[in-house]
Amino acid sequence: MSKKIKFINYGRHSIDDDDIKAVVKTLKSDFITQGPTIPLFEDKIKKYCGVKYGFAVNSATSALHISCLSLGLGPGDILWTSANTFVSSSNCALLVGATVDFVDIDPDTLNMSVKSLEKKLITANNNNCLPKIVIPVHFAGQSCDMKKIYELSKIYGFKIIEDGSHAIGGSYKNLPVGSCKYSDICVFSFHPVKIITTGEGGIALTNSKLIAEKLKKFRSHGIHSIKQKMRKRDPKEIWNYQQVSIGLNYRITDIAASLGLSQMNKLDQFINKRRKIAKFYDSKLKYLPLKRQHEISSCKSTYHLYVIRLNLKHKKITQKKIYNNLTKLGVLVNIHYIPVYRQPFYEDLGFKSGHCPEAESYFREALSIPIYPDMTIKDMEYVSSSLEKVLTL
Ligand SMILES: *Cc1c(COP(=O)(O)O)cnc(C)c1O
Repeated sequence: MSKKIKFINYGRHSIDDDDIKAVVKTLKSDFITQGPTIPLFEDKIKKYCGVKYGFAVNSATSALHISCLSLGLGPGDILWTSANTFVSSSNCALLVGATVDFVDIDPDTLNMSVKSLEKKLITANNNNCLPKIVIPVHFAGQSCDMKKIYELSKIYGFKIIEDGSHAIGGSYKNLPVGSCKYSDICVFSFHPVKIITTGEGGIALTNSKLIAEKLKKFRSHGIHSIKQKMRKRDPKEIWNYQQVSIGLNYRITDIAASLGLSQMNKLDQFINKRRKIAKFYDSKLKYLPLKRQHEISSCKSTYHLYVIRLNLKHKKITQKKIYNNLTKLGVLVNIHYIPVYRQPFYEDLGFKSGHCPEAESYFREALSIPIYPDMTIKDMEYVSSSLEKVLTL
C-alpha cells in the first residue's frame, strides 16, 4: 500500500455548526418547503446586493431558464454568451427554442471581450441577426466590463442577463455584483463549489417589477395568487390561485434556504479568505512559467477559481501530464472551461473548432488550482510546492 495522501480539491464548501443548527431548526419546524425562510434568504441577498427583487430557485441553471422565459426569448430569437463558461449559460437559450452563439474572450481577464462583442454586433447588425439577449459571465468571480456592455445594449437593443454564478460577494465600480445597475437580471449559483451553498440552489435578481412578476410565475407552475390579477369568473368560486401561463417547479426548499441564510452571514469572511489565498499564490507562483488571470482595478474578484495559464512553449511537458502529475500528488486541479461549443452536442449543431480562438488557446493552457475558505496554510503551501515541482521538471 502506498502512503495515504490527502486530496485537495480545486473547490469545496465550508459548513460549520451554525449552518447545521439552522438546517436542523427548519427540519423540526412546520414548514420545510415554501416556509418563512425562503423570503428571509431572498431579502438578505437583495439587501446585500442593493437590488429590488430576488427569487431563489433550485439552481442557477433554473434561474437562467426562467430569466430567458421572463425576457420573452423564444423560437427565432438569438442569445449570445461567453465561449468560456459552463454549459448552462448557453443551454438556457436552446431550452426555450432560441439559437445561441458565442463571443470570444479577452486573454487577460478571460471574460467576454467587449471588443469581440462590438465587432460581432456590427456584423450581426449588417446581417439582420442581432441577439435579443447577451449573457456575460463573471468568470472566476471577476465582473465583466458591464458598463461598456450596457452601453452596447442601448445601441443594439439587446437585454442583459449577468451569469454571476461565480461572483456573489464581488464588486464592480464599487457596486456589489447583483445590483443589476447595468443589466436586466443577474443570477447566482449556490452549488457547493461556489461561494456560498444551499446544496443545489440559485437566485435571479432584477430591479424591474414586470420581470420580477414573470420570474416568480415561471418559478412556480405559471400560477399566481394575486387577487386583483385573477381572471373574473363566477363569484361563487373559492379558488385562490390561477394558472395563467406555462411554468415550472423550480422552487428552492426552506431546508436549503436556511442553509443559504446562515451561509450569507459568512459571505464576506469567505471572500476575504479566498482573496488571501489568491495573494499567497500570486507571490509564490510569480517565478513559475505561467500567467495568472488579470484582476482589473474597478473589480473586486471573489476568486471562486484561481486560474493559471501554463506557458509551456519551451518545455517538453504537456498540460495533460501536469494535470496527471498533480492528481498523483493529491492536488485535484480542474479545467474551466472547455469552450461550450466544443461539446459534442454543440458540434452536432454545427459549431466548429476555431470559432473563438482566444477561448480555445486559453483552454489548452488552463488549470484551476485549489482555492476554498477552509484551506490551511499547509494546504496552500503544499499546492504551490507541488505545482513548482511539476512545472520545473
Ligand atoms: C455553476 C455554474 C452554473 C450552473 O449553476 P447550478 O447552480 O449548478 O445550476 C451556471 N453558470 C456558471 C458560469 C457556473 O459556474
